[in-house]
Amino acid sequence: MVQEDIFKKLVSHCKEYGFVFPSSELYDGLSAVYDYGQNGVELKNNIKKYWWDSMVLLNEEVVGLDAAIFMHPTTWKASGHVDAFNDPLVDNRDSKKRYRADVLIEDKLAKYEEKIAKEVAKAAKRFGEAFDEQQFLDTNPRVMANREKYDQLNARFVKAMNDTDLAELKQIILDEGINCPVSGTANWTDVRQFNLMFSTEMGSTAEGASKIYLRPETAQGIFVNYLNVQKTGRMKLPFGIAQIGKAFRNEIVARQFIFRMREFEQMELQYFVKPGSELKFFESWKERRMKWHLALGFGEENYRFHDHDKLAHYANAATDVEFKFPFGFKEVEGIHSRTDFDLASHQKFSGKKIQYFDPESNESFTPFVVETSIGVDRMFLQIITAAYTEENLSKEAGKEDMRVVLKLPPALAPVKLAVLPLTKKDGLPEKARKIMDTMKFDFNCQYEEKDSIGRRYRRQDAIGTPYCITIDHQTMEDDTVTIRHRDTMEQERVAVNSLLDTIKEKVDIKTLLKKL
Ligand code: ATP
Repeated sequence: MVQEDIFKKLVSHCKEYGFVFPSSELYDGLSAVYDYGQNGVELKNNIKKYWWDSMVLLNEEVVGLDAAIFMHPTTWKASGHVDAFNDPLVDNRDSKKRYRADVLIEDKLAKYEEKIAKEVAKAAKRFGEAFDEQQFLDTNPRVMANREKYDQLNARFVKAMNDTDLAELKQIILDEGINCPVSGTANWTDVRQFNLMFSTEMGSTAEGASKIYLRPETAQGIFVNYLNVQKTGRMKLPFGIAQIGKAFRNEIVARQFIFRMREFEQMELQYFVKPGSELKFFESWKERRMKWHLALGFGEENYRFHDHDKLAHYANAATDVEFKFPFGFKEVEGIHSRTDFDLASHQKFSGKKIQYFDPESNESFTPFVVETSIGVDRMFLQIITAAYTEENLSKEAGKEDMRVVLKLPPALAPVKLAVLPLTKKDGLPEKARKIMDTMKFDFNCQYEEKDSIGRRYRRQDAIGTPYCITIDHQTMEDDTVTIRHRDTMEQERVAVNSLLDTIKEKVDIKTLLKKL
């Protein structure tokens, strides 16, 4: 299936099964804002729990925080967001569509990479076992030509971004023959800077009101609380502060569903270290974060690091964890070595000393920071993408009987157990409810008695429920039920009194945490 079709299916699946709805859909929606439905909120909460526990529960030197969304406006001067949180935008005069100039160029770079990947795939098929990929990459003329084009474009692009050279960005778009995907023309306006922060007024009277911002990242809430937490928690370096919360960005190009939203949620860790040790911790957090992703079991080949050529104004090393979405490898998480930029800047703007006294060396200094920052919503999309599976159950018979199943890690599934009485009579519903009452304190159960068992299984498959139990007449005699496993569709007979322990162990977040 074409990758774009898969993505369209995912979006409609998320809506049909109560995962994600467009915001205020009743009024035709609000661009790039989404609501999470009955199943979506459960999956989202489980993702957050997996992250939070992996940070705060498993690391005794990491503690949590929940800072407010509104912050003193000077925060955003100190952080650089008022002056530098801009995206370069460009409009196409014919389609009237607006784009991010850097994204147009990145898409062009990705096209060169795709061309190379296609050549490699073709050659691998042709040469079979004897194929030497490295040799092919080093010697094939078409690959080499595309690699050269990629490198030249990338070097020019990185320089233009680093120099904030907007005229050069436009020139690159023209030189590369990048056309508007809607109008097909290169009738572009000049490239302009656009600040991504949303602002509003705080205070009731026009004279007394002051302009404040909706935070564009959760990180600054941590930095301004560094001293509070360090002092009250008597924290010693290295230590970390973890936070999950909403962030807001007035994204120019809002597309790809919940990949790029205007209101979204971040899970951020700021890890404070001694100056000079930051790159060591940067490397170890890279490794630990990748392990966190891989523990979900979606396949190593779908993840990669992408080291930044263009470093943000505050960073001395940066990488992204990228996942292979249907629209290509894209960032899900950023890992940045932020130096002492933030704390030093808040010290300067607030006029208050923000330092750490090291009892061993008897010195005071501003700690350096390593940050890991991941979007909850983007992680949600990553997981749904990886879990979405279509299977033809009658393939061998040459027929088509499709089942859609979300192969979610059981610990993340919105519903862990579906409790299904075979019929609505003979006391089966009552028995089913009784079983459910013994389980509902430990994990999320769903009771369903409508439609045939087969259809009920399919509905549970579509939301990723790992286990279904059927209560039938035999249950009334010997207190056993049929348990059906989502991925294999295998069924077995088990005693009711063994259910709780067996299922609890398999659906617990601990199953993931123990892999870290
Ligand atoms: P991008 O380059 O995609 O705009 P970024 O580099 O600006 O992202 P960061 O500022 O590093 O992103 O934010 C950390 C994480 O927050 C990202 O890896 C992503 O998962 C998430 N994130 C950032 N912007 C958005 C958004 N508009 N919608 C959803 N998630 C987002």
